[in-house]
Amino acid sequence: MSSLAKNYKRRNLSFNKGKGSFLFTKRGIKYLDFVQGIAVNSLGHANPNLVKAINKQSKKLWHVSNSFIIPEGEELAKKLTNKTFADAVIFQNSGTEATEAAIKVARRYFYSLGKQKKNRILCIKNSFHGRTIAAINASGSKKMVEGFGPKVGGFDHFKFGNHKELKRKITSKTAAIMIEPIMGEGGIKVVPSWCLKELRKICNQKKILLILDEVQCGIGRSGKFFSYEYANIKPDIVPIAKGIGGGFPIGAVLMTKKVSKAMVPGTHGSTFGGNPLAMSVGNAVMDEIFKKGFLSKVKSNSKYFISELNKIKNKFPNIIKEIRGTGLILGMQLHHDQTKFIQSLMKNKLLTIRAAENVIRILPPLNVNKNEINIALKIINKVCEGYKNNE
Ligand SMILES: *Cc1c(COP(=O)(O)O)cnc(C)c1O
Repeated sequence: MSSLAKNYKRRNLSFNKGKGSFLFTKRGIKYLDFVQGIAVNSLGHANPNLVKAINKQSKKLWHVSNSFIIPEGEELAKKLTNKTFADAVIFQNSGTEATEAAIKVARRYFYSLGKQKKNRILCIKNSFHGRTIAAINASGSKKMVEGFGPKVGGFDHFKFGNHKELKRKITSKTAAIMIEPIMGEGGIKVVPSWCLKELRKICNQKKILLILDEVQCGIGRSGKFFSYEYANIKPDIVPIAKGIGGGFPIGAVLMTKKVSKAMVPGTHGSTFGGNPLAMSVGNAVMDEIFKKGFLSKVKSNSKYFISELNKIKNKFPNIIKEIRGTGLILGMQLHHDQTKFIQSLMKNKLLTIRAAENVIRILPPLNVNKNEINIALKIINKVCEGYKNNE
């Protein structure tokens, strides 16, 4: 009997080793891992450069309080601001802490302007921003808040794609709009560039802040460092996590100079956030992702993967409804519940994970190679063939 609480529905499978795109069981059975910790292991398992970075730092210094200067964190913050819209960074340890911090920054910004009542955050109904009390209330999902009352105020919601409702829900009390440019848990729903551009315009007109949650779709996952870059816009606040640590827990909130001014000493903090051990890994991840040709390789692999997946879709139009996604955050939407399909893929040694709307999420490491993509395509094709024969 496990002593762990039962809050996860776990597959009856465990691993004791990983290398690149692959996971191995204790008995040496090899799986192609296109979950990668849900877009966390951005550079695959046991990446030699990350192993080197963490080993080196672990012998020097693990943790010091944020009441001291942490050079490794200064360095990572500089890398993040040099490559993005942001001027300032606060480090956290997870995605939900990053989205919480994003909400705090937005509210504190208007507070600092003397507009205490401008504190409401407008989000997409049934979105996902993490599991803390604030984040589940931000999601606007009945299921996520069930049993965790009282309801936390300060959040409004509009339906995905309902622009009239979005505009109607912006009031004088709205501080920010917070959305995922590519909804991960929500079923790999890509917000089109024209939409993001329009959102930016609305936020400018109403003088409110735009928070883009890049926890899942950021850090090169989309083929650009941030997925909103495709729309050529600049957000005000961006929470990140997952891929930035390559498997080590790191979260952060990135912000413009304008809003960062509100975050004066004492307004926010984290004991672990930004410690030397975490930061040394984050620095190594950034160095890999910004190596010449890395992101263009993500894009070309993505193009190939999507076009081949569409060929399979066209071959099995009664099974696969749609191929979704950008870069290497991909979704295969089925006509029916995806549980059985995911199990069949797993039996054939390909690991994937579900998302909403009958979607199977495909999240290879960003440094996946074409040969590995071909292995996955072959397995997906084989499972489709099996499905057809069963019906
Ligand atoms: C995973 C995720 C979170 C929460 O991250 P945790 O590290 O699990 O707290 C928040 N927002 C988005 C978009 C995510 O995908």
